[in-house]
Amino acid sequence: MIVIGVITVFTDRAKIFVKAGDGGDGCVSFHREKYVAAGGPDGGDGGKGGSIIFVADPNLSTLMDFKYKRKYVAEKGEQGRSGNSAGKNAENLYVKVPVGTVVYDSLTGLVLCDLSKPGQEAVVAKGGDGGFGNKRFATPTRQIPKFAKPGYPGQERDILLELKLIADVGLVGFPNVGKSTLLKAGTRANPKIADYHFTTLTPNLGVVALENGISYVMADIPGVIEGASKGAGLGIYFLRHIERTKLLIHVLDASSQEGRDPVSDFEIINRELSEYSAKLKEKEQIIALNKTDLIFDKSELDGIKNRFKEKGYAVFEISAATGKGVKELLAYAGERLSDIPEEELYGAEDMYREEFDLKEEKPFDIFVADDGIPTVTGVFIKKLMANTNPTDYESMQYFQRALKAKGVIDALSDMGVKEGDTVRLEDMEFDFVL
Ligand code: GDP
Ligand code: MG
Repeated sequence: MIVIGVITVFTDRAKIFVKAGDGGDGCVSFHREKYVAAGGPDGGDGGKGGSIIFVADPNLSTLMDFKYKRKYVAEKGEQGRSGNSAGKNAENLYVKVPVGTVVYDSLTGLVLCDLSKPGQEAVVAKGGDGGFGNKRFATPTRQIPKFAKPGYPGQERDILLELKLIADVGLVGFPNVGKSTLLKAGTRANPKIADYHFTTLTPNLGVVALENGISYVMADIPGVIEGASKGAGLGIYFLRHIERTKLLIHVLDASSQEGRDPVSDFEIINRELSEYSAKLKEKEQIIALNKTDLIFDKSELDGIKNRFKEKGYAVFEISAATGKGVKELLAYAGERLSDIPEEELYGAEDMYREEFDLKEEKPFDIFVADDGIPTVTGVFIKKLMANTNPTDYESMQYFQRALKAKGVIDALSDMGVKEGDTVRLEDMEFDFVL
């Protein structure tokens, strides 16, 4: 039994900051006409701030872009205008991420979204609503409201992006046939990407960048070791990942340097692969006859080559050490990849279960602070405070009504807070009045 000991799923991460646009401010204005002394209020509402929306783009394969640009800010909504004219909503900011990106809120560690399908979109920061213009505050008893509402702040958060890179191509073969050497030779072609992966991820993974602009992820699957003693359970765990590769390059030592016969090596490995799973056995294989730089008898090499060709395999003669034939092999693998359809790779057990609905953020928290003062905090309170002018009587009345409507007043009463007691809303203190 052969244990295949590698994880072909690697993780790429980036931490960024997103800030959705604030809503535009409401406008204070009064209708003016010649010979009309004081018209009614006609200040329009502010426009909505732009949201930040992530889109899963199948043309991206790493999170590299996010290591250079770490801050994403959407535009503010336009201010309301006189004549009941509302400010324009700001454009949403669309940010492309690779398919398979999972987005976490850094603060809570919760998954905001899991962008697993091409074209899938998710709002990661919601734009603030525009503030109401003074026209909205006109009532029969308050005919000249001299205040409007500032726009609501757009959501902002630190987020963590995580991408699990799945190898498209796996290198299989006995130890010392040259898999690691081939991986290095194949990914050296594009030093920037290769270095990036080699340093931040793992030496077992590389991005092959072809001249035609196509790139794919190739994993060295080392340690095809004989002996069931290495733990079949672990092997099966790894296997699940290996099964996700679309294509295998079967590397053989054609020089028979260590006294091996490439054809029987090939059969042994395949027998072991099929013992693990039929799916692995059926995976397309390309034969790489390696170490051809050590072969001086051309007819011997032709003999080996023909035996694989007879079996219907594509065969490449290469030397991973000198680089000969490597380009052709990897170009062919790239071509084949484009013909192999995408499979539904993830089973239900792989999906993230936590969900976080942006709309369902708890409106407020209520507790007694260390200094004994009943305290209310939270998104709703913050927004309300930001939109209140404490020196304006009408604005304060509105504030009071909003607290009542949201249940803050009742919650404080339930806590035993009485008229005249001090309460704290976020970081401002008030006398409690019913
Ligand atoms: P792996 O165990 O399959 O990953 O094999 P390695 O890539 O570590 O290679 C094993 C040994 O074979 C190393 O000493 C390599 O330098 C050597 N080797 C790999 N490819 C070639 C090749 O094309 N020609 C020669 N002459 N040696 C090679
Ligand atoms: Mg190796």
